[in-house]
Amino acid sequence: MIAISSVVFGEDVEREVLDTLRSGIVAQGPKVKKFEEKFAAMIGAKHAVAVNNGTTALGAALEIQDLQPGDEVLTSPFTFVATLNAILDAGAIVRFADISANDFNIDSVDVGLRINDRTKVLMPVHLYGQSADMSALGELADRHGLAVVEDAAQAHGATFDGQGVGTFGLGCFSFYATKNLTTAEGGMITTDDGAVADRLRVLRNQGMRARYQYEMVGHNYRMTDLQASLALPQLAVYRQQVEQRRRNAERLAMGLEDMAGLTLPRELPGRGHVWHQFTLLIDENARIDRDELSARLADAGVGSGIYYPRTAYDYDCYREHPRVVIEETPVASSVAERCLSIPVHANLTSDDVDAVVSAVRTAMGQ
Ligand SMILES: *Cc1c(COP(=O)(O)O)cnc(C)c1O
Repeated sequence: MIAISSVVFGEDVEREVLDTLRSGIVAQGPKVKKFEEKFAAMIGAKHAVAVNNGTTALGAALEIQDLQPGDEVLTSPFTFVATLNAILDAGAIVRFADISANDFNIDSVDVGLRINDRTKVLMPVHLYGQSADMSALGELADRHGLAVVEDAAQAHGATFDGQGVGTFGLGCFSFYATKNLTTAEGGMITTDDGAVADRLRVLRNQGMRARYQYEMVGHNYRMTDLQASLALPQLAVYRQQVEQRRRNAERLAMGLEDMAGLTLPRELPGRGHVWHQFTLLIDENARIDRDELSARLADAGVGSGIYYPRTAYDYDCYREHPRVVIEETPVASSVAERCLSIPVHANLTSDDVDAVVSAVRTAMGQ
C-alpha cells in the first residue's frame, strides 16, 4: 500500500531524543528555545513561540486580539475543523468567505463582500501548502483595520512573493503527525512584534512571568523538549524534504496532465508551494466520481485522502450554533464533493509516484 502520508524518523532524531532523555530536562527547556529560534529563522519571522498543538496556536493568537462579544472572524469554510473550533473557543462569531478553486484558499473578492462593521480578524488558511493571496488580503485587512491571523498549519516554509507565510500577521503552525514537519503533537506562533511574542509566552505558561508572578489568566500550552527533539533534526533537512515533495508533484503532474475529467493542482505565480497535499479535482462530467476514484485507488494499493468531504460549517453542531453565520459558499461546497488528495510525501520513490500515476489512469479508464 502506498500511504497518503508517512512518518519516518532517522537516527539523527533517535540521537536527539536520547540526548534529551539523558539530560533529565524533558518538559519545556533549552530544546524548545532552540526550535523556536531555528523555526523563526526558517520562515523569516523575528519571534516564534512554541505551543502544544496547532489548535492552541490559533486559540492563543485569537485570545490576544481582545475580541468583544459580537466581534467576527472571517475565514475559509474549506479547512480542518480546528480553524472553526479555535474561533468559537475564543468567543467570536465566525463568518465564512468562499474559496477560489485555483488555490483552494479564500477568494479576496468574496472576502471583500463579506467584511462588515463587526469583522475584526481575517484568518486565511494556507491550504495544502500553498499561500493564500496575501497581497489582496493584506490590502483588505489594512483598509478595514483587521488583524490577520494565518492558519499556516499545512504550510511551513511556503512563501508569497518571496515572503514566508506566518509573517503577514500572526502565523499559526501545527506539527501534528501528518504535517510536513512533526513533533507528534505541537504548534508554533510567529510574529515580528516583540511585545506580542512576550504576551504569548506568558499566556502559554499559566499567565506566569516568573515563578508565582501571575500577570494574566493563562493556560498550559507548553511544548516539551522531547517534542522539540523530534523537530530539530527535521528542520536541518526540511528544505530537501520540500524539494522532494516538489519533484514528486511535478512527476505526478507530468503523468496526469493529459487526462480528461481531472483538474490538477497548480503552484500559482509568486507562490512557493510546499506540497503538503497534491489534490485533484474530479470534474463534474467525469466518468467516475470522487468516491469511486478513491475506492478504485484503494483496490490498486494506493492510499488517498479527502480533505475535506464537507465545508466546515456543514454539520448540525455548527449549523445550529448561535455564533456560526451560515451563508452559502458554492465553490467550497462543490470542491468538497470533488477533491481527492493523492500521495506526494517525501518518502515516495519515483517508482511509487509512477505507480500512483498509473493507478489513477487505470481507475479513470485512460
Ligand atoms: C492540522 C490543522 C490544524 C490543527 O492543528 P493541530 O496541531 O492538529 O491542533 C489547524 N488547521 C489546519 C488547516 C490544519 O490542517
